[in-house]
Amino acid sequence: STTIAHTDPEIWAAIQAEHLRQEQHIELIASENYASPAVMAAQGTQLTNKYAEGYPGKRYYGGCEHVDVAEQLAIDRLKQLFGADAANVQPHCGASANEAVFLAFLKPGDTILGMSLAEGGHLTHGMALNMSGKWFNAISYGLNALEEIDYDAMAAKARAHRPKLIIAGASAYSLRIDFERFARVAKEVGAIFMVDMAHYAGLIAAGVYPNPVPHADVVTSTTHKSLRGPRGGIILMKAEHEKAINSAIFPGLQGGPLMHVIAAKAVAFKEALQPEFKAYQQQVLRNAQIMAQTLTERGLRIVSGRTESHVMLVDLRAKGITGKEAEAVLGRAHMTINKNAIPNDPEKPMVTSGVRIGTPALTTRGFKDDEARLTANLVADVLDHPRDEAALEAVRAQVHALTARFPVYG
Ligand code: PLP
Repeated sequence: STTIAHTDPEIWAAIQAEHLRQEQHIELIASENYASPAVMAAQGTQLTNKYAEGYPGKRYYGGCEHVDVAEQLAIDRLKQLFGADAANVQPHCGASANEAVFLAFLKPGDTILGMSLAEGGHLTHGMALNMSGKWFNAISYGLNALEEIDYDAMAAKARAHRPKLIIAGASAYSLRIDFERFARVAKEVGAIFMVDMAHYAGLIAAGVYPNPVPHADVVTSTTHKSLRGPRGGIILMKAEHEKAINSAIFPGLQGGPLMHVIAAKAVAFKEALQPEFKAYQQQVLRNAQIMAQTLTERGLRIVSGRTESHVMLVDLRAKGITGKEAEAVLGRAHMTINKNAIPNDPEKPMVTSGVRIGTPALTTRGFKDDEARLTANLVADVLDHPRDEAALEAVRAQVHALTARFPVYG
């Protein structure tokens, strides 16, 4: 760090300012977390210098004997964590993990069936402007009147369109997903079944959310969300798909793997195998339930009525404030959040009527029941008086008092 300060003071200043922001603000973005010092340190090592195209024991470069150890540890720990037959730890991010699955199983023009972005899905699951929507015939399913995944409609679409690939998984869906039911439909119509568990991976590793691995052909994920690792992607698969997926990642989609990131993934997987990780994820779930209940008591509506995970969508319409405005005003109170469309949102995607709230980050810094309740009340205080400067200042002072008691990195 002193070398960055010396070599590049401008970048060092940005890093220090971001460090301070992370310490002083309450992080409510559901896809973010704080990686451990060991995970961060692994990424700043000599492993960043190494080219290692190929896989452990089968490389296209010399000198790979030590990075082979790191990658094999990452693979073995990942398989153990989720009970998978086979694993690939090389995807640079969640999007490239998904693209590799498409490359392995699909041809341009093939039909895919995924969850609609507008109702909680991810843009790589068939959104019109994404490669998945441009190169494939993307059909989508969504929610029923109870704002639960409409499994019957999903099955009907699968029967009508006969997709080659069915995708389960979401970026803004608070309930448990019935992976077994998806798998039955995929089997019936002869589709490959892919689960993108990016949001839920940490909960799944700890056994507090259903594990899709026994039911899916392939499971993709990011490593930096609830799983609390470095930024990156992974793919788990049945043994029969290992060859196709591995060759889709390399040489299909990527060149040299990021060995420093793979080492950091291995560290994160080791952390996730410890008993403390299960206790952490149980608290993530508890904090989400407490926040959902508190926000409901304060007059806000939780989409789907409840949360069974780390995340919830909050319908802001009762407070007469848009998602865009809420994101800005909560930011001024030093609570970081993202606006998010709610089902059948009357507002445009850049405005929205909702915000998404997640508890992985605040739980990592040590927030338990009382702090989760206080945080939800502070969010509601801001939403009740979004244009009252004095009220905003009072909330910001309480946020700073709270974050000072729970340093992230000390
Ligand atoms: N899949 C899901 C369900 C996600 O929520 C995200 C990230 O937002 C991704 C994939 C993409 O991950 P990345 O940003 O690493 O490409």
